[in-house]
Amino acid sequence: MSNPDHAWLDGLVKWEDATCHVSSLAFKYGAAVFEGVRAYWDAERGVLNIWQLNEHLKRLEFSQRFMRYERIITADECREAILALLKANGFRANVHITVTAFLSGPGQPFVCGPVSLAVTAMARGDYATDGLDVQVSSWRRTPDSSLPQRVKANGNYLNGRVAAVQAKTDGYDTALMLTQSGKVSEGPAMCFFMVRDGVAITADKTSDILESITRSTVITLLEEQGIPVEERPIDRSELAAADEAFFCGTAWEIAPVRSIDRLVLPAGSPGPVTSLLMERFSALTMAADDAHPEWRTPVELS
Ligand code: PMP
Repeated sequence: MSNPDHAWLDGLVKWEDATCHVSSLAFKYGAAVFEGVRAYWDAERGVLNIWQLNEHLKRLEFSQRFMRYERIITADECREAILALLKANGFRANVHITVTAFLSGPGQPFVCGPVSLAVTAMARGDYATDGLDVQVSSWRRTPDSSLPQRVKANGNYLNGRVAAVQAKTDGYDTALMLTQSGKVSEGPAMCFFMVRDGVAITADKTSDILESITRSTVITLLEEQGIPVEERPIDRSELAAADEAFFCGTAWEIAPVRSIDRLVLPAGSPGPVTSLLMERFSALTMAADDAHPEWRTPVELS
């Protein structure tokens, strides 16, 4: 697939000019925070719907605040940049957007500016899967007391990466990570749910997870369907009691799990609750169902 014409780097630029210096703190020390956002093309209405934009931009402000950036790039600034970029590229397809607030100058690791905003948007399809074979990783999640997963910092992704690479090397599709105390945490870029006796269970927000927007969406959708949800610590052994399981996240949407440590989930992949959710989620993102308009930001392309 060819690159789009434009990117955003503190202004609209040609794709090939969206570069960052090798002396920057972002490059040298990973001093960057970001959001991955999706926009879904509604061909019937000729509208690109950005999914959960406000929630993503709120989290980006939080991540910058945690990093003590000397200037916070606000949600309004980011929104303007994203809209300008989508219009400049004139996408008529589903799009994946990355919004990064990063330290663009050189300096010592404790320096907190200058801050730059980079946005890229690329047409991208689904991560469709009929079931993931998951390895419970021997690599543990970095704890809140070291580098909090609540902050969507680029550096955090090295932790998920070692687990994902290990899983692939060992013949699995992806990893499920545990906290330092051995409770279930999350996947490398997605949150985890299991269904046990009709109850959906997911790790609570203090289990070293990213406070995932899709996780919140899923909780709302499950509750609307009358399916009880428990947010609580999950023992590793409880995974063996799951009837079905799935991962969720902006990129992965709702991804069914086939097996965990080669133990195949008895209700199938996708199981009935996962199937229901996948259908609901897709109807809402594609705007086939008009419910929850607050989750969609429509962009009219001229
Ligand atoms: N956990 C991690 C570590 C992630 O990177 C992501 C992707 N952003 C998620 C969970 C899912 O979060 P969200 O639903 O907000 O995309």
